[in-house]
Amino acid sequence: MIRRAIYPGSFDPVTNGHLDVIDRARKLFDEVIVAVAYNDQKHPLFSLQERLGLLKGALGTIRNVEIAPLDGLLVDFAVARKATAVIRGLRAISDFEFEFQMALMNRKLEATVETIFLMPKEEYTYLSSRIVKEIARLGGDVTDFVPSRVAKALAKKLGMTKPE
Ligand code: ADP
Repeated sequence: MIRRAIYPGSFDPVTNGHLDVIDRARKLFDEVIVAVAYNDQKHPLFSLQERLGLLKGALGTIRNVEIAPLDGLLVDFAVARKATAVIRGLRAISDFEFEFQMALMNRKLEATVETIFLMPKEEYTYLSSRIVKEIARLGGDVTDFVPSRVAKALAKKLGMTKPE
C-alpha cells in the first residue's frame, strides 16, 4: 500500500516554512500532494495559477511530491486521491486552536483521514505568507524567507500594484 498524504494550504506565496514542512512530510510518506486552495474569500495576492507555478519552481522535480489545485472539501479530495493523511504545519500555540478544530471536523467528516502536524525548523516558526507579503509591501528584504523566484515575483507584483 502506498502511503499518501495531502498538504493543503493557500501558499500565497510559498515560503521556506512551507518547503521545510514538505521536506519533512516527504520523508514520512511515499507520496505527498501539495494541494493549493483557490481561497477566493481570502483575496489572495497571487492567482491560483501563479501560486501553483511558484510552488513548481521552488520544488523542481522532487520524486515523490506532486502539486495540484484543490477545490471543494479537503476530505473529499483526500478520499479521491486515496490519501490517508492530511499534513498541517504548527508554528506556535496561536495556530493550535484553529488547527485542532479543523482536524477534528475533518475527522468527523471522514474518519479514514488522519491529520498530522509537523513543526518546522525553529527559524521558520515566525514565518507566514502574510508577514512576508507585509514586509515586501513595505519595501523590506524577504530573500531569507522565500525562494529567490518568489522574492522576484513579489517585487514584480507589488511594483505593478503601487499607487501612481
Ligand atoms: P492556510 O490558508 O491553509 O493557512 P497557508 O499557506 O498559510 O494556508 O498554510 C498552509 C499550512 O502550512 C498550514 O498548516 C500552516 O500552518 C503551515 N505553515 C505556514 N507557514 C509555515 C511555517 N513557517 N512553518 C510551518 N508551517 C507553516
